[in-house]
Amino acid sequence: MVSIIQEGEYEKINNFYIIKGQMDSIEIHSLICILEFLNKIFSEIFSKDIMQNEICKIYNDPTATCPMLFYTEPISIRLTLESTTFLNQLVYQLSHELCHYAIRANNKNMSGKLKRFEEILCESFSLYILVVTSQRWQECKLSETKPGYDKYLMSYFTSTYANGEGHSINSKMTPEEYINDNSNCESNREGHIAERNHMLSLFREYPDKVTEIIQYTNYIKKDKSLLIDFDLWSLNTINKSFVKALSVVQPQIV
Ligand SMILES: [Zn+2]
Repeated sequence: MVSIIQEGEYEKINNFYIIKGQMDSIEIHSLICILEFLNKIFSEIFSKDIMQNEICKIYNDPTATCPMLFYTEPISIRLTLESTTFLNQLVYQLSHELCHYAIRANNKNMSGKLKRFEEILCESFSLYILVVTSQRWQECKLSETKPGYDKYLMSYFTSTYANGEGHSINSKMTPEEYINDNSNCESNREGHIAERNHMLSLFREYPDKVTEIIQYTNYIKKDKSLLIDFDLWSLNTINKSFVKALSVVQPQIV
């Protein structure tokens, strides 16, 4: 249990513990409402079992370099927002980390092992969630006081997405390039921007298949090649064409 956190220092939403820290009451309220909203959407996509899989702390550190899910005991999500009242950035950061959470919930031994693929998944998924939250904004409690905020979610999506122009998918890589990309993918997001945008358009085209993405850990090859066995994955699922389309982001190793 979360014995190190004292009563009064956190707000509990299901199995998520929001650590209040330096946040004021408006920032805490913003974070609670967005977490409840995202938790609803994520539970619909991945199931309640996945989203209530384990205890997780959530805190904001405006001085930290990047948001992150830490595999500590209990696990924790660090946000790096100047303020959690910047709701579009909050949705974007938190949904990326909750995607890591869902992947881990489905397979604790293999999550995070194949960094390149997982990062592309979480980046495209958080963009996808910006669109979904914009479309369903009236379901968020904050819409009562900010009824027109859906426009800001959508414009944040548009400005983030537009960065991908001029990039193309890496269809071939040497083993060295592939191994390097797997360790550098978080610092070199530009390097897989076309792959990210490809996944995003898939998610938008097939929203009812998106639940499939957290299964990828079950098909990582056992031979240390850091490759996913997409043939086996397609064989085992009803979402065959979706999985085939996902496989485009895995380069051929030459
Ligand atoms: Zn990530």
